[in-house]
Order: sequence, then structure tokens, then C-alpha cells
Amino acid sequence: MARDYYEILGVERTATDVEIKKAYRKLALQYHPDKNPDDKEAAEKFREAAEAYSVLSDPDKKNQYDTYGRVMDDSMGGFSSTGSVFDDLLGDVFGEFFGTSSSRRSRNRPTKGQSIEMYQELTFEESVFGVEKELTIKKRENCKRCDGTGAEPGGMKTCEKCNGQGVFTQRNGIFAVRSTCPACNGSGQVIKETCTECKGKGSHTIEKQIKVKIPAGIDDGMIMRVSGEGNAGSHGGPSGDLLLHIKVKEHKIFKRVDNDLHLMLPVTVFDAVLGNEFEIELIDGSKETIKVKPGTQVGERITLKGKGVPSVKGYNVGNMYVDLQILIPTNLSKEQKEVLEKMREEAKENDMFGSKLKNILERFKEFIKGSK
Ligand SMILES: [Zn+2]
Ligand SMILES: [Zn+2]
Repeated sequence: MARDYYEILGVERTATDVEIKKAYRKLALQYHPDKNPDDKEAAEKFREAAEAYSVLSDPDKKNQYDTYGRVMDDSMGGFSSTGSVFDDLLGDVFGEFFGTSSSRRSRNRPTKGQSIEMYQELTFEESVFGVEKELTIKKRENCKRCDGTGAEPGGMKTCEKCNGQGVFTQRNGIFAVRSTCPACNGSGQVIKETCTECKGKGSHTIEKQIKVKIPAGIDDGMIMRVSGEGNAGSHGGPSGDLLLHIKVKEHKIFKRVDNDLHLMLPVTVFDAVLGNEFEIELIDGSKETIKVKPGTQVGERITLKGKGVPSVKGYNVGNMYVDLQILIPTNLSKEQKEVLEKMREEAKENDMFGSKLKNILERFKEFIKGSK
């Protein structure tokens, strides 16, 4: 079981962005590998803090984490997205501590590939029960011959402009201003011989079929992360991720709110007065009998426990709520109207509404007067 991200950073769940950043900065400085060479425990703490921060500093991921206890990740395995976020962080958090040296390092540092974003529409039933989808993705893949460098194997040479330093340093009084070498882009190496396979591009676009297991209970607007199916990384960095934005089609009669299903069941005023039973078909195709008891009032709700949607976390199921829509007849014959007129008269004398409703009528009598 992964440790709680808030616990790792030592902040409250209510911590602000600034507090979260401050807490991360403190830990990152304390456990930074440069300060703790060959200390495995420190390295692990450093990695953990980065992982926690990368989630809690991203509003979308933080939201997912707060709601579901994790960031949607179909592999469910190790955390995979530290790469790109991590790079931002290093520039951000360490820039001021380690000076410009990090800017040179960042040029060569293994960088995670970019994410690919795709949309997947699901039927209501697919979202409730989960589904496996085959997707065709287009992604950048590194050239196998040159491993993404764009050079023939052994076809790199030291940059002559910067003597392999990757940077120029200009002194201006007490300031030393470093700038990245434009010839080698800071890597210190340039291509001597272009890769024959990719003509120096280093990567190409491929089409790939992948199967993605979409978990039961996924909801409209959720983003599923499929690790490693994004674009190739550079300098040996891992591939990016595929971010699958889930869109769920509306159901004809069921509405979903969180993990609960809501059903508006139309019944006539006669059903509400006299009672009736209705057989409805649930989302899984099973049948359920809804009992409308005699004297059912407008606004009453019938709850079917555990007949909602499974949580995407997988350990509870929502309820189904049946709200009755009581239909009033609008097209009555003369005789039918007479019967109702008679009932209205009788209602004044009899205890037709029971003591509870009579009390309500009494209470309002002072303020509201019917014309009949
Ligand atoms: Zn250079
Ligand atoms: Zn190549």
C-alpha cells in the first residue's frame, strides 16, 4: 500500500498550494542526491516526495487523488509520471539554489516523453460495468537504429563551438552569465554522420493498437492514465503516458450522480392514491419491483440500496433512488369531473387526508384561502 501523499510531505489535507510547495522544497533539499551520495534511503525519500508533489501540485491529479485515493493509472504499478513534472520542479525549486548549472544538466537529463491525450466515448452500461477497448494511437517512437539521437551509431563528435562544454560563460564584473551553446543545444555533442534510417530526425510516428481495460464505475469527465503509451522520451527517458478522457453517453432513463443512480418514475395520481407495483428493468438487465404504497406524496423517494454504480475504487456500490413523478389527469369527461367535485366537497368534512396533512392544511388556512 502506497503511503499517503499528504503524510509524505507532512502537510494537512487542507494545505494550500504554497504550503505544499514549501513542504516539498524542504524535503527535496534535505534528501537531494547531491547532498546524500550513495544514500539509498535518502534517494527513496527524495523520489517519494517528488511523486507526492507531482500529484498534489497538479489540480487535476490532486482532485483525482482526493476523490479516489489515487491517480487513475491502468497499470496500478509504480508511479510513472515523475519525469516531466520532475524536470519542471528541478528548474523551479533548485534553480535558485544550484545556480545555472542545472540548466546545462537539464539539457541532457533523461526526459519523459510527452503525453498523448485522447477521448473515449462509452455507453452508460460500459461505464457502469467496465469494458475493454481497442484503441489506435499515433505516437512518436524513437528510431531504433540511432536510439533517438539522429546520428549513425558512433556518429557523434564533440562540439567544436563549446569544446563539449555545452555552455558559454561570459564574465561581466562580478556576474558570470552562462548561455547554452546553440550549436549542440547544450549537449556538448554534435552529429557527425546522420542516421541512415530516420535521416537525422531521431523519431518517427507510428500507429499502434493497444487494448485498454476501463474499470467499472468510471464516470464522465474522468481521465484515465495508461502508463508508457505516450510519445517516446529523450536522452533515454521513459515514454510519456496516454491520457484517456472519458465521455459517457446519457442513459434514456437513469441519471448518475456520483455512484448513485436516479430514476424519475412517472405514476398517475390514482397509483399514488391507491397504490400500485411496477416492474422496472435495472441497468444490469435484472428486474426489480417498485412498490408505490397507497397515499404516496409528491416528493417521496424510494431507495434501492446497493443498486447503483460500483465505485471506481472497487469497494462500494451506490444506491438507486426512485423519485415519483405524479401525473395529474388533464382530460376529464363531465362525469369524471363531477366525481372529483363530489370528492372535493367530502374532503372538507371527512378525514380524507389523515391528521398529518389536515394539520398542514389547517396551518395554512389563515394565509391561503381557496375559492371553493
Ligand atoms: Zn556546443
Ligand atoms: Zn535514426
